[in-house]
Amino acid sequence: MPTPTSPTRPVLIAGAGIGGLTAALALTRRGVPVAVYERRPAGEITMAGSGLTIWSNATTALGTLGLADRLLARGEAVRGGTSVDEHERVIYRMRTARYTWPGSVPSVSISRGDLIGLLISACEEAGVPLHTGVRCVGYEQGPDGVVMKLDDGRAVRGSCLIGADGIRSAVLAQLHGGLPQPLYTGRSTYRGISPTAEGLAPGTVYMFHHGGTRVGGGAWHVGGGRVAWTLSCVTEPGQREDPVLLKKRATELARPLPGLPSRLVAATAAEAVIRTDIHYHDWRERWGDGRVTLLGDAAHAMPTDLGQGACQAIEDAVVLADALASHDDPVAALRAYEQRRVPRVRWVREQVMRLVRWPQIDHRVVKWLVTKVVAPAVIAVKQRSLWRELQRPPLPFGSRPGTGGTR
Ligand SMILES: Cc1cc2nc3c(=O)[nH]c(=O)nc-3n(C[C@H](O)[C@H](O)[C@H](O)COP(=O)(O)OP(=O)(O)OC[C@H]3O[C@@H](n4cnc5c(N)ncnc54)[C@H](O)[C@@H]3O)c2cc1C
Repeated sequence: MPTPTSPTRPVLIAGAGIGGLTAALALTRRGVPVAVYERRPAGEITMAGSGLTIWSNATTALGTLGLADRLLARGEAVRGGTSVDEHERVIYRMRTARYTWPGSVPSVSISRGDLIGLLISACEEAGVPLHTGVRCVGYEQGPDGVVMKLDDGRAVRGSCLIGADGIRSAVLAQLHGGLPQPLYTGRSTYRGISPTAEGLAPGTVYMFHHGGTRVGGGAWHVGGGRVAWTLSCVTEPGQREDPVLLKKRATELARPLPGLPSRLVAATAAEAVIRTDIHYHDWRERWGDGRVTLLGDAAHAMPTDLGQGACQAIEDAVVLADALASHDDPVAALRAYEQRRVPRVRWVREQVMRLVRWPQIDHRVVKWLVTKVVAPAVIAVKQRSLWRELQRPPLPFGSRPGTGGTR
């Protein structure tokens, strides 16, 4: 007779991004067998992106898996953020570390490659089977299991299927009868990692904005003296440059910001500059059906403002593992997971969408008043309640057996 923590068939996970790998590790730590299937070849998994901020809600979730020390060793602890104008005058400061929860792990800024590498190492140590270079193309459900179909013609059986396969998820597409078209934010980002800090102190997320060109962005340490930077601009979707021209374009965008942003772009190798149009999904509350559910961007891809996309994928993963480890019936477990996660993610997304919909003002004086007076005043009043709630850890502290606690 299978027990809740040892089903006869593994939980199948489509996608080895931040969400899929965290789910695989969390489930394995709770004694639930898993198998992960990732479309990219093994050598390419750690090669994506530049730098991420992983806020305390998510570092604390990773802490329950015993990863806090590795995160802090690879990345850089974050105390808060500073927003400056084009003349490097401070508009406001955010003191996010003040609004973390007692006993939680500090927020960390880290390169995406280092975070994925750290998760893969932990999965390997835990014995997680990771199959690379195979794409999930669909699934079939039966009364006692689910079959995931792969693009190499194989069909693998499991107790349930987790679609952690990102914004263009094959699992989401089948669940909703076709892939919902990702929405374009109207902004594209140029990103890179400078090997030198160019004077930026560690511990602060430095945010900058140029009112005239509407170029904005940020810079933050990602460990080892390196600084990740991003420059975003308003542009039509789908435009592409030749990769050799990306640094040139980033240099042009940074020109009206002659201080730190320009220096960081100049210090970055041309081949290390990447570009991404920022997309997201309409909000959907139906994440699953029967033995299938979604996690991370597949369930709730959101714009990058507030830096909570990967954090919410990590929260999903530990809550999902908690639900599957504590229910006999996987179908009941998946619905319990969705019930716990949907209200939380809906709230986080609402905060993000408020920022995205912040009105663009063209009148020079009104713009000055809003940017220099109204916005800092609103942020001063609201930052405590916003960051306190954003950084709420998804599980009670110290309650996970065999997980190494929160630190
Ligand atoms: C510019 C930028 C900056 C960001 N900054 C932050 C930040 O600072 N903090 C933060 O928390 N979030 C940030 N985000 C958001 C964050 O990157 C995403 O929310 C996060 O990566 C989602 O993780 P995921 O595992 O759900 O999906 P993904 O990272 O998209 O991973 C999905 C995985 O599934 C694989 N896959 C896809 N299709 C299939 C298939 N059919 N079969 C098998 N495998 C498949 C993919 O190859 C990939 O490995 C940022 C995003 C962008 C674009």
